[in-house]
Amino acid sequence: MKVGVISVQGAVPEHLHMSRVALDAMGRKGEAIAVRRLDDLRSVDCLIIPGGESTTISKLLRKFGLFADIVAMGMDGVPIMGTCAGCVLLAKKGGEQAERTGTELLGLMDMSVDRNAFGRQRESFEAPLEIEGLNDPFPGVFIRAPMITSAWGSCRVMCRHQGEAVMARQDNVLAMSFHPELTGDPRMHQMLFSLV
Ligand code: GLN
Repeated sequence: MKVGVISVQGAVPEHLHMSRVALDAMGRKGEAIAVRRLDDLRSVDCLIIPGGESTTISKLLRKFGLFADIVAMGMDGVPIMGTCAGCVLLAKKGGEQAERTGTELLGLMDMSVDRNAFGRQRESFEAPLEIEGLNDPFPGVFIRAPMITSAWGSCRVMCRHQGEAVMARQDNVLAMSFHPELTGDPRMHQMLFSLV
């Protein structure tokens, strides 16, 4: 299996590392590559869109000519996981902040998000999360995290933190407002790879 990590800005090396850990843990042969060019993008079996700054990532996806192909891959059923800023980019609606900054979203998931929604005094925090399909809590690391404010159609919320939706799935696409690549726990990456 070939895993691609979109590599225009943000937490790329951490995702590459965790992808390799997860492949090992699953006993699956594979590789994880940083994706910055169209031919690399077209060669992968699944894709990770990392955290970072969603406005910047969005602009760079256009500049590097990757934007339309990511949308097409998602609609074709290629498994995609977006974390934090990646979660914002997967949404159909990005709330007031995305509108104000003119952030163009990939729009692969029937959900709306609110950027940096957890409030100033709690810009970064950790919390154990109960996630659908996992037996034990997952260590949630939140950094200026978005909140999923609504989900419709076939988009399903998979996890809430203090009542707020922080993870969702729509068929082949997973989005979470936290950072699984910054933990020692490969289960979110394994969840993505199990869809391949
Ligand atoms: N606040 C950032 C955004 O809205 C996301 C932060 C992150 O990815 N850690 O784009």
